[in-house]
Amino acid sequence: MTLHELSLNQASELLQKREVSSVELTQAILDRIEKVESKIHAYITLTRESAMEEARAADLRLQKGDRVTPLTGVPIAVKDIFCTRGVLTTCGSKILENFKPPYDATVVARLKEAGSVTLGKTNMDEFAMGSSNETSHYGIVHNPWDLEKIPGGSSGGSAAAVAAGQCFGALGTDTGGSIRQPASLCGIVGIKPTYGRVSRYGMIAFASSLDQGGPLGREVQDCALMLQVMVGHDPKDSTSVPMPVPNYLEHIQKGVKSLRVGVPQEYFVEGINPEVEKAVRKAIQTLKELGAEIIEVSLPHTSYATAVYYIIAPSEASSNLARYDGVEYGFRSSGAKNLLEMYRKTRSLGFGEEVKRRIMIGTYALSSGYYDAYYRKAQQVRTLIRRDFDRAFEKCDLIVTPTSPTPAFGIGEKASDPIQMYLSDIFTISCNLAGLPGISVPCGFNTQGLPLGLQLLGRPFDEERLFQVAHAFEQVTDWHKKRPEILSS
Ligand code: GLN
Repeated sequence: MTLHELSLNQASELLQKREVSSVELTQAILDRIEKVESKIHAYITLTRESAMEEARAADLRLQKGDRVTPLTGVPIAVKDIFCTRGVLTTCGSKILENFKPPYDATVVARLKEAGSVTLGKTNMDEFAMGSSNETSHYGIVHNPWDLEKIPGGSSGGSAAAVAAGQCFGALGTDTGGSIRQPASLCGIVGIKPTYGRVSRYGMIAFASSLDQGGPLGREVQDCALMLQVMVGHDPKDSTSVPMPVPNYLEHIQKGVKSLRVGVPQEYFVEGINPEVEKAVRKAIQTLKELGAEIIEVSLPHTSYATAVYYIIAPSEASSNLARYDGVEYGFRSSGAKNLLEMYRKTRSLGFGEEVKRRIMIGTYALSSGYYDAYYRKAQQVRTLIRRDFDRAFEKCDLIVTPTSPTPAFGIGEKASDPIQMYLSDIFTISCNLAGLPGISVPCGFNTQGLPLGLQLLGRPFDEERLFQVAHAFEQVTDWHKKRPEILSS
């Protein structure tokens, strides 16, 4: 195996044993990026020089045994939604085409403190609105398993970069599936932590009651190692929870014996791709053979989730995005004759179609006369969705579902049909509405060689269990070991 094909935990082990240096590892990844990036387009910004500097500093720490963590010297990538001090942070939008934040997001700062090496900022759907990475102002990302296919979104650049060996792990965010769906479509692992587990400070807001940052990696352990550094209370984010954080690796080997795994009947409905269903059913069988007890559960309000999400998320977005007006930072249109015209021109030219669609839907749903009918009603149904999960978790310890109803679809295939695009999130959205943790792990390939993903949903703050079950599944399967052939050689 060449260096760029290693998983994060393997790379970390080599670093700790001093069998490879961070400079060598970082150089190998930069070479890999040089070779494949023109085909994938996973990055918006590459920070080659600072990456090499950080690698040298990490080597020094490793040599001296000074503040060494499992991430010291490991090259990773950061979704362009996280503020990075002095480094361009666009959120995939033209409106932030020149924005260099004066501070680091908390998770970025924590990963740096741990000694990781930042390679750059990854491509994404504009303001994280999308499921295919096609709404990015900075061009589309290609799926490493089939360059004609989308990588998923909105953390499409992060997922593609991990899958193509252009980093060992990456940061993503998930408002309605944006970590899990691209992870599934790119054949890697991604976890959305419980709402409140990870600080949102410095993470550009899309829908504040749903957004959560998390890691993407090739193996479950990779995500556990990254999440360990990211979690924990942050006084700068009032929604981050001051709860003790377990050691995620401590019990990861515990297996699934006698755990009760719930299968919700509502997630195996018409419209699900037969190859996806087959792979997921087989995965459930595997969990059973490993000693889990499989039980049927019901989440009766599932069918409302997409509708509820597409009211709440745009409503919060319309408010969050009001700050981009060309005054304090970002793009400002020239030639306006007065302030109002400047606002109008800046926002008309600075935002893309999908973002404008959401701002309009959200503004409508929040406006007087419609608020009760749409926003308030959606919040009420959201509570019912949450209660469905509370009830299901009385009977089971975790829930398994497909991550995405289909494998990666063709570039351009759904771009002009928002409803079809929104349906891509059908299995991932409820988890955000209920604030629960969810992980996606590879569970097979379709006949065209495209990866498929299994989703595990847990009780609030039970990320540990998700890692444990996902890891057990990974140990008896080898989907995660496959690398996209298209880019080998
Ligand atoms: N695809 C969903 C949307 O377009 C989810 C995006 C996300 O999780 N950021 O809103």
